[in-house]
Formats: sequence, structure tokens, C-alpha cells
Amino acid sequence: MTEHYDLLILGGGSGGIATANRAALYGARCALIEKGALGGACVNVGCVPKKLLWNAAHLRHGAELATDYGFAPLLGDFDWAANKRARDTYIGRLNQRYATGLADNGVAVISGHGRFADPHTVEVEGKRYQADHIVLATGSRPIVPDVPGASLGITSDGFFALTERPRRAAVVGAGYIAVELACALRNLGSDVSLVMRGAHLLAAFDPMLREGLMEAMTHAGINLLAQRQVSGIRKAGTELTLLYEDGEALCGLDSVIWAVGRAPNGEGLDLDKAGITAGRGGIVETDSYQNTAVAGIYAIGDLTGRAALTPVAIAAGRRLADRLFGGQKDRHLNYDLIPTVVFSHPPIGSVGLSEPEARERHGNEAVRVYRTRFTPMSHAFSRYPQRTAMKLVTVGREERVVGLHIIGEAADEMLQGFAVAVKMGATKKDLDDTLAIHPTSAEEVVTMR
Ligand SMILES: Cc1cc2nc3c(=O)[nH]c(=O)nc-3n(C[C@H](O)[C@H](O)[C@H](O)COP(=O)(O)OP(=O)(O)OC[C@H]3O[C@@H](n4cnc5c(N)ncnc54)[C@H](O)[C@@H]3O)c2cc1C
Repeated sequence: MTEHYDLLILGGGSGGIATANRAALYGARCALIEKGALGGACVNVGCVPKKLLWNAAHLRHGAELATDYGFAPLLGDFDWAANKRARDTYIGRLNQRYATGLADNGVAVISGHGRFADPHTVEVEGKRYQADHIVLATGSRPIVPDVPGASLGITSDGFFALTERPRRAAVVGAGYIAVELACALRNLGSDVSLVMRGAHLLAAFDPMLREGLMEAMTHAGINLLAQRQVSGIRKAGTELTLLYEDGEALCGLDSVIWAVGRAPNGEGLDLDKAGITAGRGGIVETDSYQNTAVAGIYAIGDLTGRAALTPVAIAAGRRLADRLFGGQKDRHLNYDLIPTVVFSHPPIGSVGLSEPEARERHGNEAVRVYRTRFTPMSHAFSRYPQRTAMKLVTVGREERVVGLHIIGEAADEMLQGFAVAVKMGATKKDLDDTLAIHPTSAEEVVTMR
């Protein structure tokens, strides 16, 4: 017999779990279908293990700085295997916490790969489930380029599974995941090259951020290799060689990490049986209410190809549940002004328009930019001081803040509160009228001239 639910969700990651729990709180009868570990990419192979490694690298920096403050050297060797065991234990606890939360809310969890049988029916391992509403939240997966020897490399998934630290690694890519993995590896002691196709990292970010980061990464000893077209990987003994189209090569590697983008997990869902045609690159397109082209079927998160971030997937899912089951007919996510952090060393925090975007959208005349660059006080005694740079992008006579970009120590923690102000329409005068907290780095945001 086919079981019937009010809501079926395909994918038990950030977006799917949030949708299920919110809908269940409204009394909807929900089932969540997950083929892997609960928590999806973020918990298992994304934000969480990444941030734990970032924390390890951050501690190393702190210990180095401590010697400049008068401490005896604090650093021993970094035990990658011990760190991996600790990460796995922590992630296991999170998986369990999700399972308990869903059970407490009365959400049925169905293990296995879900695919459509028809627009209202999903099949999992030969069993059929029907629902009035079906949410697709199957996320994305890392892309492996189609070049000879590609499988000799690993992706971010494989990176987090490593039980020992690569000695000499090449990270291929220029987006935030490439940057984060390269920085973590370098700061934990590996010899790292970052191989990119174009001239710059982080193409979508403000130029000040990417230039500052390239300078910091070079200073940290990361070998930045720009304008290299990778044509394959070759293995001889235990050594890998990364080959370029121009015949040059990068030799002596023990790890090549592909970080060249992510593809939506739409294949394998038999979308055609639901009447859905995948869009560009395999994404499932939705309107601003997360509706697909088929009534009763919705999509959220990475699968939709918009701002692939955990809080975005969660917010879209919760708002959808509010609309479908909470009587909030107009509830939907506004995708503007999404704050984001790159966990590089130093970290980057960014919200709103970059300077070039603002000039393009509002015209040169309307845009006024404020900048500052300084050495944070924590680095006052440092032999290798890190720099912090900030940029405020404002528009119009009232100088409304449409962009705030920070690279430097604590940028990750600084941004959240300022993102509230930007979202509320803060102007430069509002920032000027806010008293500084002294002595901090954050005070520079309200004292820029
Ligand atoms: C290395 C890395 C670092 C990241 N760092 C950050 C960060 O710092 N901050 C941030 O906000 N975001 C970060 N992200 C992005 C974030 O992880 C994703 O945006 C988020 O997980 C998307 O949520 P989702 O619900 O769309 O998909 P996911 O959370 O990936 O969940 C999708 C789930 O669907 C399941 N699934 C797929 N197909 C099927 C099927 N047919 N049947 C059943 N189950 C299926 C998958 O197993 C998976 O569990 C990072 C991602 C990566 C890879």
C-alpha cells in the first residue's frame, strides 16, 4: 500500500531538515527521504568539518602570535589523524541530534534514494510514498573535470576523509572552497599550490578582498598559479603530476584536490516523471516562492542554483513551510543582501554589492566608497603582522550602505551585526552616529572617513 503524507521531502540536509521540522510544528504529517547521513553537505562534508579545520589553523596562528607576546613556544606537531577522529565524533553527534530532533517533531525518516514515479508519488527502494506537497532539497555534489587521470584527484568530500595530512598538495579552483582548503592545508603545515584558470581568486567578490587575500596567501607561502589550464593528472609510483594544456606540469604531489565547482543533484530523481525539466546545468528552477513549474512540487537550497549556502537553504525551507502549513500566504525568502564569509586566513566577510557591481547598477556618480587598511592591535608586536582592510560602498545623496567588505582578523564574527544594519537600510550617517567600541577592529567600520 502507498503511504500518504501532507509533505514529502527529498534530501535530509540543511534545507530539507529545516523544512520538515517547521512543517511538523504546524501539524503537517511529514516524511523526509535521505540516502546518506542526516545533515547533508554542511554537516558531513562542508561547513562543519571545514570550520573545525579552520579553528585548528587559527589556533596555530594564535600560538605563533603568543610567542610575540612573551610566551615560550607553544606549538607541537599537528596530529591530523587525531583531529580527524575528533571531527568524526563531533559530526556523529550532530547526525544523532538531527535524528532525535526529527523524531521528537514526529517527522518520519525514510532511508534510501528517492525518485519520482509520478508528480505525487516518490519511490524509495521499491516502496511508494505519496504527498500533497513534495519538496526537492537534494543539494549539490563536487564536480570532477573530464580530463585524463581525473580520478587520481580527490574532491572536498575526499579531502575531509583524509586520515593523514598531505605533504604536497595542489588545489585546483578559485572559488571559496578552493581558497579555504588551500589555506587550511598550508596553515596546518602542507606545501600547497593553488592552481586557477583565470588571473584572480574569488571572482564574484570585491576586488579589494581578492587582492588582499592573494597577498596574504602568497605571504603565507601558498604557491598561487594563475592562468593554468589543467589537462590531466599522471601517477608514477606514489607521486602525482598535474599536467597543463601548454605542456608544463606541477610534479611531486601526493594530493590533487578538485575544487572547480558543484553540480546540482537533480539526476537520479527521474524529474521527467514529475513533469519537471531541469534548467541550466541541471538546476531545478523555481519562482521566488520556491514553486517549480509543477503545482505541489517545490525546490530549495543548492539544487535551485541560487546562493549555495546553508542559511539560505534553511531560510527558504522554513519560509516555504510557513506558507504551506502556517497560513502565511506571502512568506518567501528575499535573496538580496545575503551576508557571507570565506574562512580563509585571514577570513573575509562580505555583504551586498561589490564596488564594481554598485557602479554598474547605480552609475559612477551615485557611488561613494570609503576604505581603510590597518594593522589590528592584536598584531602590534607581531613579526609578521596581518593587515585588515575594509570597504563601505554607498549610493545616493543619503549614502545608503549597499556593500560592506572586510578582510582581516575576526571579519567572520564582525559581519553578522553589520549585515543587520545594511539589511535595515543603514546610511553612512547612521554608522557615523554609532559610537565606536574601543579598542577593537570593528570600530573602524563606524569611523571610516
Ligand atoms: C566544502 C564546503 C564548505 C562549505 N562551507 C559552507 C559555509 O561555511 N557556510 C555555508 O553557509 N555553506 C557552506 N557550504 C554550502 C552548504 O553546505 C550548502 O549550501 C548546503 O548544505 C545546501 O543545503 P541543501 O539542503 O540544499 O543540500 P544538502 O545539505 O547537501 O542536502 C542534500 C541531501 O540530499 C540527499 N540526497 C541527494 N539526492 C537524494 C535522493 N535522490 N534521495 C534521497 N536523498 C538524496 C543528500 O545525501 C544530502 O544529504 C559548504 C559546502 C561545501 C561543499
